[in-house]
Amino acid sequence: MGTKGREIVDMDVNKLLKLLNRAFADEWLAYYQYWIGAKVVKGPMRGHVASELEEHAGEELEHAGMLTERIIQLGGTPILKPEDWYKLRNCGYETPEDPHVRVVLKQNIKGEQCAIDVYKKLLEMVKDKDPITYAMILNILKDEVEHEEDLEAILEDMKSMK
Ligand code: FE
Ligand code: FE
Ligand code: MG
Repeated sequence: MGTKGREIVDMDVNKLLKLLNRAFADEWLAYYQYWIGAKVVKGPMRGHVASELEEHAGEELEHAGMLTERIIQLGGTPILKPEDWYKLRNCGYETPEDPHVRVVLKQNIKGEQCAIDVYKKLLEMVKDKDPITYAMILNILKDEVEHEEDLEAILEDMKSMK
């Protein structure tokens, strides 16, 4: 990153980089959880659920891309080994061993709720300290809030189908 660009970051950059890399690990795991969930999911409204999961997978991958760019801009190195995603993650990875739509949706909702917590905390931390990271996190947080709502809405629709 440029000299001035670095100067305007008014916080411990190494600490920030660690947290951004942890969020980056979460995004890859969220991406995979959605992606594989879309493949294995079974039950009512399966097609609709699968396409929503696929769409979210794509958005999680975009988040990973945004985080990488900022990590590099701040002079850091994004996690290079997939095995470290699991070690450094904040949120869990919920294995879709039971592929029923309800189970898969609930697992992904849990993941979104964790992501919302993580990004809310990060947002507070960079507020008034790093406007560029703030803007990026705010965009990601908006998506995570939308993801949770989309999945909860599908679960609601399913309840009324019985
Ligand atoms: Fe995400
Ligand atoms: Fe999400
Ligand atoms: Mg959606």
